[in-house]
Amino acid sequence: MGVRRRTGEFLLRVNPILCDGFGHCAELAPDLVSVDEWGYPIVTTRPTALTDENALESAHFAVRGCPRQALAILRVSDES
Ligand code: SF4
Repeated sequence: MGVRRRTGEFLLRVNPILCDGFGHCAELAPDLVSVDEWGYPIVTTRPTALTDENALESAHFAVRGCPRQALAILRVSDES
């Protein structure tokens, strides 16, 4: 049995229709999310490597902590 490597990148996506704009996600994933002047999240559009375990863990915290289930982690394929 081989070792499974994580390759590729991920993006954190917000559904603006569901989001209530209290900015809880920015506290849970400050490296990936900031808030605008109204408290709505501004999520980085730059893909993050799946090997960045801290960022990935933060993204999972944000997804689980979002009270509106407005966040999702999207895997960006590294195949071209
Ligand atoms: S935690 Fe969820 S509902 Fe709250 S600001 Fe972030 S995305 Fe929006």
